[in-house]
Amino acid sequence: MFDRFNRKINYLRISVTDRCNLKCLYCITGDEIKYLPKEKILTFEQICDVVKVAAAYGISKFRITGGEPLVRHDIVKLVKMISDVKNVKDLSLTTNAVLLEKYAKPLAEAGLHRVNISLDTVDPEKFRHVTRGGDLKQVFAGIEAAKKYGLKPIKVNCVVKQNSDEPDAVAVKEYCLKNGLQPRFIKQMDLEEGVFGTVEGGSGGNCEKCNRLRLTCDGKIKPCLFSDIEFDIKTIGIEKALEFALKSKPEQGGRNLKNIFSNIGG
Ligand code: SAM
Repeated sequence: MFDRFNRKINYLRISVTDRCNLKCLYCITGDEIKYLPKEKILTFEQICDVVKVAAAYGISKFRITGGEPLVRHDIVKLVKMISDVKNVKDLSLTTNAVLLEKYAKPLAEAGLHRVNISLDTVDPEKFRHVTRGGDLKQVFAGIEAAKKYGLKPIKVNCVVKQNSDEPDAVAVKEYCLKNGLQPRFIKQMDLEEGVFGTVEGGSGGNCEKCNRLRLTCDGKIKPCLFSDIEFDIKTIGIEKALEFALKSKPEQGGRNLKNIFSNIGG
């Protein structure tokens, strides 16, 4: 399907939870962490209903994100349910990889094609600091497991302050080259201030070429990461929410005062 600026929309990002096992400083912003009550979170059936309608409308690429998608109870079952939907051609998942050592094999068996892994530094101390307590060893073990079970190509998302010449980014690039991973450098964004830019080594952040819609974990279809516009599948239904999101997709991103990265998925 095409939007009013003739952009082909064929990609849906699905946030399956607003909870995360890391608390990255640039992602979970604000004074206190507010989680949605459990009863507001979409069930697996509701998520799959959206996937079915989206796939029938011509969306063929789906990415599962969060929060941290691997903390959602029974995530493997959800992946299997989504991968079984007709016309789901590319199914990927964005993760911090903390739990990936445990899940890589069952996820691959359930039909997941590939993973994007977030990694901003290969220095254990800095990692602990930026994630507020994370253990880098778990991430490395998760990456090894993803390689072992063929969740490839493995892309690595590295958030930088300005560009990939920064020492942490240079070290991440070296690690990626050594390990057969594809690094992408994302300049730190600000939803509230409308600060965003293109992803070095990737396709995000380029409004002219944007091909995506988003589903939040409580059932809002959003046409743009940098916009407050959203349509609630629970009140107007999936078809209308998708149609309205397509019709109102802005030409360019602006600001988003309703979300933080951790509850929309990045
Ligand atoms: N928990 C998963 C993970 O860590 O990959 C998925 C959700 S996370 C919100 C998705 C992506 O958003 C991550 O790659 C993260 O680095 C990125 N992200 C979060 N806050 C960001 C910010 N302020 N600017 C740019 N990217 C950001």
